Amino acid sequence: MIIILFGPPGAGKGTQAERLVDKHNLMQLSTGDMLRDAIARGSDLGIKAKAIMDKGELVSDGIIISMISEKIQGNKGRGFIFDGFPRNLEQAKALDVMLEKLSLSLDLVIEIVVKDDVLINRIEKRVRESQHARSDDNEEVLKNRLNVYHQSTEKIKPYYVAQKKLVKIDGIRSIEQVSNEIEGYIVDIVKQ
Ligand code: AMP
Repeated sequence: MIIILFGPPGAGKGTQAERLVDKHNLMQLSTGDMLRDAIARGSDLGIKAKAIMDKGELVSDGIIISMISEKIQGNKGRGFIFDGFPRNLEQAKALDVMLEKLSLSLDLVIEIVVKDDVLINRIEKRVRESQHARSDDNEEVLKNRLNVYHQSTEKIKPYYVAQKKLVKIDGIRSIEQVSNEIEGYIVDIVKQ
């Protein structure tokens, strides 16, 4: 099973991805987590990526696509859940090419829909309550990340609508309710 969790920053993609990993033995491929690992290791890639991430911009497609390609090729036979990838049309097309080469294909793209004002409130709360807020977790950077989401990432949607793979879920509900609705779609895939 290969699934994309799609949605704006703060929509809860990471939380839902973790649940799916536990329930369905999928491998979570979060490009944001991979980049944060590279930063923590102090690698050249991490140093370059940090400056871009701290502004809320997108890291170059070349870096992202090769990170994902390495993971997919190194874990043949696994099911994947993508979280935070693809972020633009180039990445979406590159993913299809990568999967096709391995005779794999995407099952479903689940969009978690949350309005901007709700996301801004969530991030403000996260910053207030956390002693370890991410360096890109502040209102100014979030607003830029939302801009980037509307300018680049959201433009992928017609591509997946044309493939009949996009489903929408209302993300302004409890983690449990969102998770149950996702589960309904997963059950359908498992049955196929
Ligand atoms: P995330 O944890 O998914 O919110 O990602 C945090 C930051 O990492 C983003 O704001 C981008 O700067 C960078 N990033 C993560 N995934 C991607 C991607 N697929 N393409 C480009 N940049 C990314």
